[in-house]
Amino acid sequence: MQQESMSILDFQNKFSTEEACQEHLFNMRWPNGYRCPRCDHDQAYFHQNRHLYQCKECGYQVSLTAGTIFHKTRTPLVKWFWMIFLMGQQKSGIAMTSLQRMLEIGSYKTVWTMGQKIRKAMSERDAQYELAGLMEIDDTYIGSSKPGKRGRGAAGKAKVVVAVEFREDKPRFATMQQVESMSEDDICKAIDGRLGEDITARTDGWKAYGFLNSGKRKHQPIVVGSGKNAVNVLPWVHILIANVKGNIRGIYHGVSSKHTNRYLSEFCYRFNRRFWEPQMFDRLLSACINCRTITFSELTA
Ligand SMILES: [Zn+2]
Repeated sequence: MQQESMSILDFQNKFSTEEACQEHLFNMRWPNGYRCPRCDHDQAYFHQNRHLYQCKECGYQVSLTAGTIFHKTRTPLVKWFWMIFLMGQQKSGIAMTSLQRMLEIGSYKTVWTMGQKIRKAMSERDAQYELAGLMEIDDTYIGSSKPGKRGRGAAGKAKVVVAVEFREDKPRFATMQQVESMSEDDICKAIDGRLGEDITARTDGWKAYGFLNSGKRKHQPIVVGSGKNAVNVLPWVHILIANVKGNIRGIYHGVSSKHTNRYLSEFCYRFNRRFWEPQMFDRLLSACINCRTITFSELTA
């Protein structure tokens, strides 16, 4: 489907009613018209009061929101659409308390759950892509400071591995994954699926990155020496790490390590699409619609 560019005024005009949002959702789910998910028939009755489409051939019923993050929501689609728009537009992220106020959402729990669902859609979409070619990989600790150890092994913080693909001295795409520990097994488990086969990875030579030297993959350990020098040797990962830490401090005022991965997903999702900003809304909405497989109980709800 053609992704549209949209300003905030375009957005406001286009999605001012629930009906307009439903129509847009319909067109994104069924760009070539309605299709029965069970028998592929193209004609349906629409039950207005329950928002259900019933197949004229086999009688199967499907709701417009089945299998999307909006399923069974009590929040109007108008608010969901605004939230997706705003979360996609704000480069450094947007606080849930701000969204709650702006969109007049009753409880913090509701807006927080909505935010987590949108982040999950971002994470699942990005997980479909692999980094390729030349990249830097390094690790860091993210979260609220606790007095004690510093460096690898800092207590109470989320351990995170960051990979940034670059070409001609410009960063292209990035992924950040929380890891259980800095062991080779755990780093490999967290990040291996996000890396292509044909890569050259620069690291500081930490022994756990040994798995990067296999098959077509090349590992270029660079002895960094002091922490200051690491910034020169692996510049892109350090810029991204500084940005994500700044965001978490400034916008989210700290994140518990339980939810770190979702925030990292949100950050990387926007970073990876920074050159397609005007299309961000439709791209993110599409991720929210196709977020996960549809279960039967959801289809028939
Ligand atoms: Zn059917």
